[in-house]
Amino acid sequence: MKNIEIDFKNIVEKLESPVLVTDFDNKIIYANTVFCSLFNTNCEMLLGRSLLDFLPDSQDTVVIKDYTYKIAKYDDEYYSYYYLNVADSRMEKIYSDFISTVSHELRTPLTSIRGFADTMLMSYDKLDKSQIQKFLTIIKEQSNRLIKLVENLLSVSKIQVQHSNLVFKSVNAKSQIEQVADILKNQYPTHPFDIKCAADVPNILVDESKFQQIMINLMDNAAKYSYEKGVISVEISNSKKENFVSIKVKDHGVGIEPENLGRIFEKFTRIENHLTRKTQGSGLGLYIVKDLIEKMGGQIFVESSTELPNSGSVFEVLLPVASYTSQSKKRLEDR
Ligand code: ADP
Repeated sequence: MKNIEIDFKNIVEKLESPVLVTDFDNKIIYANTVFCSLFNTNCEMLLGRSLLDFLPDSQDTVVIKDYTYKIAKYDDEYYSYYYLNVADSRMEKIYSDFISTVSHELRTPLTSIRGFADTMLMSYDKLDKSQIQKFLTIIKEQSNRLIKLVENLLSVSKIQVQHSNLVFKSVNAKSQIEQVADILKNQYPTHPFDIKCAADVPNILVDESKFQQIMINLMDNAAKYSYEKGVISVEISNSKKENFVSIKVKDHGVGIEPENLGRIFEKFTRIENHLTRKTQGSGLGLYIVKDLIEKMGGQIFVESSTELPNSGSVFEVLLPVASYTSQSKKRLEDR
């Protein structure tokens, strides 16, 4: 990485054109000497400054043959310079990672479904009942995985066109979570799912199928990033925040480093750990979870640690109770 940076600077320093590089927040992270002399400034002094502070009249960009130029007004003169925002190049990388992740995610279960279906077709007479049952179970689990991926992809495209389509109703969180646990128990037979609900917890006001999608993503992650036999517990209780129900999904898995906690809700982001390398994922789950929870008027928090091998993570979701007035229901539906 460092070498690429040095190579980049060496090349850009040799150019006769002014070049400026900014980060996601438009802070200047690099300017070549030509740029600095054009604007009669010291390169070192520019680093970390906001582009908008330095060149407030440098808003217009033009793209000529794939290069982006900015036109800046400075001391009543107009100048143009090459402009590169690292966010643009990062987006390209994110999308190419996305295409390869999704292709892999689709191909793996499809290959497995086709393989087991082929075996059954070719050797139907030779297989006993228990083998057929085993193969059909794998086909069903792999189909569930495909459905989850397709639902997540559809949710992302809906988020991108700002289309929500949520139908709010009063839902019993515990019974929905038990249904999700039943689906996941087949997929993770060694993980015990322990669901606890306090006595006086009211129903929540949510879109039922989206609530299931949230819980599938959170509980699937809890199992996926835990070691075999690790207990996955879900605790439902009244939140300290008035009129909200708290749902905590706890695991004893690999955990997440503090510096990565802010990134896990970003689109297509997978954090490197030795289980992400072994497990499948598109990096979309938590992005969708957060978006859906917020559209339902709720919040999500995470606490995690990697200090001990089994420190694990706790994802807490707050969702509004169903005793909300019809007005607040309408407000949520209009979001
Ligand atoms: P995916 O699981 O498909 O990679 P997610 O958006 O669901 O995508 O999660 C993003 C990243 O957050 C994961 O790649 C993983 O590194 C981390 N993560 C999510 N949940 C957990 C968890 N319960 N324990 C440890 N890491 C987690």
